[in-house]
Formats: sequence, C-alpha cells, structure tokens
Amino acid sequence: MKIVDVKVREFILPKPKAPSKPYFNAIIMRRPSMDRVIRITQIETDEGITGFWFGGNREIIEKRIKPKLLGENPLMIERIWQKMYMGGDRKPIPKGDYIVAMSCVDNALWDLAGKILGQPVYRLLGGYSNRVRAYAAGGYYIEGGSIEDLIEEMSRYVDEGFTAVKMKVGGWRFGVDMKTDVERVKAVREALGDGIDIMVDANNAWNAYEAKRFAKLVETYNPYWFEEPVHPDDIDGSIEVKMSTTIPIASGENEFTRYGFRDLIARRAVDIIQADPNIAGGLTEVRKIAAIAAAYHIDFAPHGNYVIGSHAVAAFPNGLIVECFPKSSPYRDSDVHGLYKDPIEIRNGWIEIPDKPGFGIEIDEQVAERYEVRKK
Ligand SMILES: [Mg+2]
Repeated sequence: MKIVDVKVREFILPKPKAPSKPYFNAIIMRRPSMDRVIRITQIETDEGITGFWFGGNREIIEKRIKPKLLGENPLMIERIWQKMYMGGDRKPIPKGDYIVAMSCVDNALWDLAGKILGQPVYRLLGGYSNRVRAYAAGGYYIEGGSIEDLIEEMSRYVDEGFTAVKMKVGGWRFGVDMKTDVERVKAVREALGDGIDIMVDANNAWNAYEAKRFAKLVETYNPYWFEEPVHPDDIDGSIEVKMSTTIPIASGENEFTRYGFRDLIARRAVDIIQADPNIAGGLTEVRKIAAIAAAYHIDFAPHGNYVIGSHAVAAFPNGLIVECFPKSSPYRDSDVHGLYKDPIEIRNGWIEIPDKPGFGIEIDEQVAERYEVRKK
C-alpha cells in the first residue's frame, strides 16, 4: 500500500451560539463573533483507505511535507516522521509551526493505520487501558461575569458527574488582581467541597516570584495542580515555583518534541507533563515523551482535543487524566452540524474508548459538501 495524496481540507461552519460574551484566560481574549473554521489533514492511499486528523497548515503540509510522503508505505510511521523532520528542505529545528503541521500529518497517519488494521489507535500505541479519567476544563474569566457565575459553571460540571474541574487564574493583564484570583479559587473550593479535584491554570501569566506568592496563597485550598505558572521558556522559574510549594506543577502545552520535554523532565521542572499531540510532534513523538517522563516517575496529562487525548492517556501506563470540554460547556465547539459524529461519551467523569478503527471518526461527505471551502 502506498500514499498517493495528502491534503488539507477547510470547512466554515455557522458561528456558535455560545458563549455570548467575550471571555479570556491570562493571555488571550476571545470574542464570540469569531468564525468557526475546521481544518482536517487527510492522507489517501492507492487502496482507497484514507485517514485524517484535525488541524493543518496548507502552505506547509501541501507544499513541503506532501512530497516526502508520496509513494511511502503509510504503516512506516517512524520512517515518515524522520523524513518530515530532517528530510530535504529543512534543518532539524525542534519548535514552531512546522512541528505543529507535522503533528497533524503524523496523527492522520495513526488514524490511517487504525483504519488499515481495524484497530483503535490507543491499542496500536501499546494499549494500557480502554478507560480514562477526564476533567472538565473551563472556568474562564467572562467579561462582566461574577464569582457566582463561576461557581454555577463549576457546579454544573460536578452535577454532570465530573470529579475534577479546571479554572483560570493569572488574569492581571485584563485587570484581575491576585487577590481576586485567590477569592475565586476559595469560592470554588467552598462550593464544591473537599471531594472534587480543582486544577488552576495560569497560562504563563507570571514570573516566578509572583507564581510563588500565588501558590502560597492558594495552597490551603489544595489544588490538584498548578498549570503553566510561568513562561514556557522559563525552566529555572518553573523549578523555583515547584520547589516552593506542595502543589504539583503541570506544564508542556507549549513545548515541542522529545528534545524540549527532555529538558523539562530531566531538570524536574514539572510534576506532570501536558504534551499536546497536536503541537508536540504527533503521537509518534508523544509516545517517546511519555516514555521519557515514565523514566522520571512523571505523569502524563495531555492538553487539547479529548479524542486524541483519550487515546494517548489510554496507551501509556503513566497516562493520568484527559482534558475535555463537557458537552454542556459554553466553550466547547460542540455543534459540528453533522460534519462528523463525536465518538466519545463521558460517564461520571470517565471515558470508555469505543472499539472503532483509528480515532473512530468519519466525515459525512454529504454534509462536507455544504461547508467545504473549495481551493481556487
Ligand atoms: Mg492550559
């Protein structure tokens, strides 16, 4: 079997109804009027089997990566990864948009392998469990929102069965001071009680001295982890914060490849790594990252899309928990207008991965017809 085409398809879907107000984390303000664009990277074979995954930079994938894949056996994934990384037109640079583009292609190859072999991806990666714990991500700052709104949102996730929820902190750039952040964490802990795990996520908001101060102030509310307290390039800062607190430090959604994670892990800058399969180099690379982490007794809790995240957590023994936006979340782009069916069900905060080939998703081509942006 040979790869005969690699393409990036783009779909523009109707704008989502929610959220209705601007909302933000520590660094990015999002406005509800933003267009809803879905891209997929699709790999086709001479035997008519195709694989795909979400995301894709057309310029990089169709012009630079595609020629490296044509004619290759799609099951030779390590070979293709190496060819994409080192081959032809580039030096081995371990960070940036090219690695993100490679990640899409690599993940589409895993979907394709699953469809060729009739197996779900987590099992092809080794297969450790078919059940993974999930946490509800949310707790954004909402323009004009109150602490009561935050409590209402977090309580709703718990009512839906989640036993772990995540909220944002570090919003000083948008006028939220540290005192307010501490009050928000306190209010959520008091509302949810001691039995629920609460993650706090600063999205790189602080320098080490500020993150240390914050960690000290919220330690009494027992956060499950403190995510991205400092800038992604501040490994020494992360070590300082980690040494100053009993709260586990989680990070890595902005880190790339085994080389970037090697430094985070070997220097013990974090307790939990959050490699994103769509950013860090694809599942081929994330598998290596999780293995390096395992050698240091560090757990893996991927950032980003929960379908691929579930497969990754299920594949590795040190897979801890998967991030997801619950179906009731205003921050979830749940309405895909029938373009594909979400293969994942969450019950009582747990995901049982369906026994479907690849990632278990098929595009409905009749619906795709309606929303696809045709190339000029
Ligand atoms: Mg985060």
